[in-house]
Amino acid sequence: KILVPFVGLVLAFCFYSKEDFNPEMLKGKRVIVTGASTGIGEQMAYHLARMGAHVLITARTEAKLQKVVTRCLELGAASAHFMNGSMEDMALAEDVVKEAKHLWGGLDMLILNHIGYTYFNYFDGDVEHIRKLLEINFLSYVAMTVSALPMLKESGGSILVVSSKAGKIGIPFVAPYSATKFALDGFFSSLRQELIIKNISVSITLCILGHIATETAEKTVSHVMQKPGAPKEECALEIIRSGALRKRELYYPYTAHCLAIDLAQASLLDESLENKAG
Ligand code: NDP
Repeated sequence: KILVPFVGLVLAFCFYSKEDFNPEMLKGKRVIVTGASTGIGEQMAYHLARMGAHVLITARTEAKLQKVVTRCLELGAASAHFMNGSMEDMALAEDVVKEAKHLWGGLDMLILNHIGYTYFNYFDGDVEHIRKLLEINFLSYVAMTVSALPMLKESGGSILVVSSKAGKIGIPFVAPYSATKFALDGFFSSLRQELIIKNISVSITLCILGHIATETAEKTVSHVMQKPGAPKEECALEIIRSGALRKRELYYPYTAHCLAIDLAQASLLDESLENKAG
């Protein structure tokens, strides 16, 4: 009973926000999208292309990136380029931003979305895996942000950080991944406040996603999910929309907003596990 008006308010708020968005906002904008060879990143590249933006996409697999660039040009991108390599190399993270400066002379939007491979299972004690994952999923995001900030300050641009419910609450079997996503929240939520204090007009949008039907998610977690994942195309559009509207946070699908329920479930799970163990 208590949740009904709350959910209603959230939905009304989301609907109202949609009214403010116009795809023209992205026309001619210069946008970097990382992890755009597949999944949500690929779909973001296509939406941006349809909106007439300039896109620079990244991932490791050159052949896939080439295909996405070709499709972006067919869909109407103002320009489309790619750079390939692994984001565990901070030099690559910085080079991508330099390439944007070289291509366009500036940058309007930085979309940080890539993730490195991890397992879905009990934590296996491998500290090196966590170190590598932190480099890919967290430190490269910081390195790109540091390099891009001068251009974003000049354009009054935006940073979009793709995170997860696992970056807001503890969920079993994803300890290394969850650690990297919590780190993103800590760093970028703090940086957002510092930018506001310094009166710098660069927005930071943290995107907290629930289960999305991408190939990776289908392979790793779909067998333990009660419902099918939300569509990656709609998710991609919601991320761009939230960034363009300079929102602080996006929760998608909207049920991802019910963290109170998730927290309650997590503590019930803790209790039942303790009872079993006891
Ligand atoms: P995908 O696995 O489909 O895409 C990941 C992208 O990252 C690919 O383009 C991949 O390309 C690239 N990538 C992988 N390893 C590296 C690396 N070492 N260096 C650089 N790029 C790399 O992921 P999703 O689309 O499912 O997820 C996108 C974002 O959404 C992630 O941040 C994820 O945490 C978040 N999210 C997704 C959820 C879901 O259910 N799908 C749920 C919650 C959050 P390549 O292999 O060619 O390098």
